[in-house]
Amino acid sequence: MDSSFDSLVRTLAKLPGLGRRSAERAALALVRQPTGLLASLVAALQRAAEEVRLCSLCGALTTQGHDPCRLCTDPARDASMLCVVEEPGDILAMERSGGFRGRYHALLGKLSPARATGPADLRVRELAARAAAGGFREIILAISTDVEGDATAAYVAETLRETGVTVTRLAFGLPADSGVGYSDPLTLKRALGGRQAV
Ligand SMILES: [Zn+2]
Repeated sequence: MDSSFDSLVRTLAKLPGLGRRSAERAALALVRQPTGLLASLVAALQRAAEEVRLCSLCGALTTQGHDPCRLCTDPARDASMLCVVEEPGDILAMERSGGFRGRYHALLGKLSPARATGPADLRVRELAARAAAGGFREIILAISTDVEGDATAAYVAETLRETGVTVTRLAFGLPADSGVGYSDPLTLKRALGGRQAV
């Protein structure tokens, strides 16, 4: 077995959604000549490693030199509304829905005993600090509606209680066991309209 090919397969298999077999298929497609796919991927990975960052304030994807990101700094956005999501990809989904024009805060995960993710692994302390600094009229929890999402939302709501800011949650209309990132724009827009106080 060629160890460099095997190493490529093993690395690809660590990506979410790619099992061993899919990783092997992807690796074979990459090394097949003369598509140039491998060279393009190397270049794209190199650029991403150099330029792609997470915004230090909200956790959204941004590029080097743009931190805080444009979502945090755009004066046309409503600075009194804060939407809390699990992942940076959820922010992209919310933006696609067109239903929210405020600021964001990505927790970078959710509470999960199975993955050993506890409160200290999430950006909850940073969220509490932003809420305590004032200026927010409402904080919307756009967190998935599975067991782990429910536990996360309850924990975040409890943490924010002493700030006195109104906390609501998207629940209505979100498909069960799915995150914001997997919801279509219309469903998200409806879920925003049907948010309820927690
Ligand atoms: Zn930001």
